[in-house]
Amino acid sequence: MRCIETREESQQEHYGSIDLSNRPVYDVLSKYHVAPPKSPEERLTLKLVRRGTRADKSCSCSNGKVPCPRCSGRGDLPCEELMICPACRGVDSCLRCDGTGNKIRQLPEDRSPVDERGLCRRCGERDAACATCHGRRRVTCSQCGGRGQRSCPDCNHTGTQDHTECRGAGRIVTWTEGTISRAPKKDTVREPETGVPNRVRKAARESGHWHPMHLNDDHPVPADVTSEFRRAVQPYLTPAKGEIARQATFKHLKLARAVAPQHPHRVYYVVPTTSSPRVVVLSSPQRLRRIAAVVLGALVVLITLVRLLS
Ligand SMILES: [Zn+2]
Ligand SMILES: [Zn+2]
Ligand SMILES: [Zn+2]
Ligand SMILES: [Zn+2]
Ligand SMILES: [Zn+2]
Repeated sequence: MRCIETREESQQEHYGSIDLSNRPVYDVLSKYHVAPPKSPEERLTLKLVRRGTRADKSCSCSNGKVPCPRCSGRGDLPCEELMICPACRGVDSCLRCDGTGNKIRQLPEDRSPVDERGLCRRCGERDAACATCHGRRRVTCSQCGGRGQRSCPDCNHTGTQDHTECRGAGRIVTWTEGTISRAPKKDTVREPETGVPNRVRKAARESGHWHPMHLNDDHPVPADVTSEFRRAVQPYLTPAKGEIARQATFKHLKLARAVAPQHPHRVYYVVPTTSSPRVVVLSSPQRLRRIAAVVLGALVVLITLVRLLS
């Protein structure tokens, strides 16, 4: 387990006011002292401000606002005082005068009674005019209420908009930020790939008496371990980039390999356990070679026999 630390600088921009007084200040980021981690697993993110880099700039706009381009800062837009009657669409506002005030038409005989018609304010005919505009074709504009101007929808009647460059803040704060981060990085220790046959490894895993070993930071490998173990362990103890703390945990055991002249075809592996040692018996390499030679011999005889017979 390693604690990897990174230190980076970046330019920061903030729109509006910001309080940086609670952040630590540094001159050279790589030299800023942070207490070492209590454990390599500790995580940390520290934001700092480089001394003298804070700058407050007022924007050229007026307190974050600029005049609304649609209404030119007035807040209102011109609007028609009257609008076409929505009920008759100005088409049949009066059946008698057509909205002109002159009785130019004859009233149709078969007007249906559901047609709610009223007095025409233009020509004075009863039951002839549209009930909404009373023969006038137009009604007061619903948007402006006849005022002749309406609120600008772009600026909501204020006449101003937020300035895009300063995002409406009116000022920009800039500074150089230093970030110190610490994060753990874990390596898994792998068993050596050569040296001990698989069956013996399995026996050692199952019942071996292992010795744990913990190495912190720069603690060296103890002098009494075997050179094989030292070689296997060394790659894990090489510091990684940005490493500021480390804890390494290994387990190891010593086992014996024995051959006996009475049993030339066997190899004995003796694995220490918490009670009596466990012995694993394997065929010796010479024995394996001899078995292979016998099989080959049988094959040659077989081929010879086949030749003789054919
Ligand atoms: Zn506007
Ligand atoms: Zn009329
Ligand atoms: Zn109408
Ligand atoms: Zn209007
Ligand atoms: Zn601005």
